Amino acid sequence: MAEIGHDINHAKEVLESGGLVAIPTETVYGLAGNALDSAVVTNIFNAKKRPSFDPLIVHVSSLDQAKEFVLEVPKEAEALASRFWPGPLTILLKRKSSIPDIVTSGLDTVAIRVPAHGLTHQLLKSLDFPLAAPSANPFGYVSPTTASHVDQQLGHEVDYILDGGPCSVGIESTIVSFESEMPKVLRLGGLSVEDIEEVIGEVEVNIHSSSKPDAPGMLKSHYAPKTEIVISDDLNPEFRKGTKGMGALVFDEYFDGISLENQFVLSETGDMNEAASRLFTGLRTLDQRPDITTIVTKFVPNIGLGRAINDRIKRATAKE
Ligand code: AMP
Ligand code: MG
Repeated sequence: MAEIGHDINHAKEVLESGGLVAIPTETVYGLAGNALDSAVVTNIFNAKKRPSFDPLIVHVSSLDQAKEFVLEVPKEAEALASRFWPGPLTILLKRKSSIPDIVTSGLDTVAIRVPAHGLTHQLLKSLDFPLAAPSANPFGYVSPTTASHVDQQLGHEVDYILDGGPCSVGIESTIVSFESEMPKVLRLGGLSVEDIEEVIGEVEVNIHSSSKPDAPGMLKSHYAPKTEIVISDDLNPEFRKGTKGMGALVFDEYFDGISLENQFVLSETGDMNEAASRLFTGLRTLDQRPDITTIVTKFVPNIGLGRAINDRIKRATAKE
């Protein structure tokens, strides 16, 4: 169990002395440390048991601060950052050598973003270094969207948890790269493709599923609960008939044949943003029920944040 509180000054002291602090953002909680100190960044990887080929996102307080660490900002990147920062958008830019190799897994680009959360924003402004922060969960498990999620799983690994309440967006940031002629979305997330295209026109969506991908949040099996989870279409019909031990994660309508108390509804009103914000809590809640041995789920409509939700559902249900 870690110390949990709202004390930005304490968080700052811990970070300045090379410690790790879990920070609230609008997407998910991050496991943060000084991005410019390789030893601290090594501790982040170790705490999460994250493979060293999976680079971290660097968090800064403004576009101006981001510019200190990158060689150039392409026009489209600047347009997106100006419009959506602070917010759930991560951009990949050519890094300067002040960003240590370990942060980017040796890649020549760095993933960078300005998070939209009052406490974390103040904290970032008060520090004279940026924060490297992956999601504050053990590698491969569901990302944390409350301080207590962090405490349950990484409480023993962090020096302090800055509690900023439940995350308002609730899924990870959308990652965009500008290496090719057309900007490319490498991870679907809390900023919809529609919103991005409104500002910079058409983008390519290139979501990998492999064991050593370009954007490793894209591992085929990721965001996975420990309980078996299956897409309803893949269930054998026998199994469907109200089998004991079944739970369901549903968008806005209950499944037939599964008791209501075993079902987690993402949004009663079919609101996609609400559904995204409740997705990881839903997965955790069902995963923690000892009487539920199989979780059944369905894809949500593929619009707005629905695409990012469906991506998480695909990875949560992937077999490898
Ligand atoms: P997390 O912080 O857990 O949301 O994961 C951050 C994700 O950002 C990684 O899993 C990668 O997919 C992606 N990422 C970070 N840096 C880079 C980079 N330089 N190139 C491509 N993807 C990156
Ligand atoms: Mg993660």
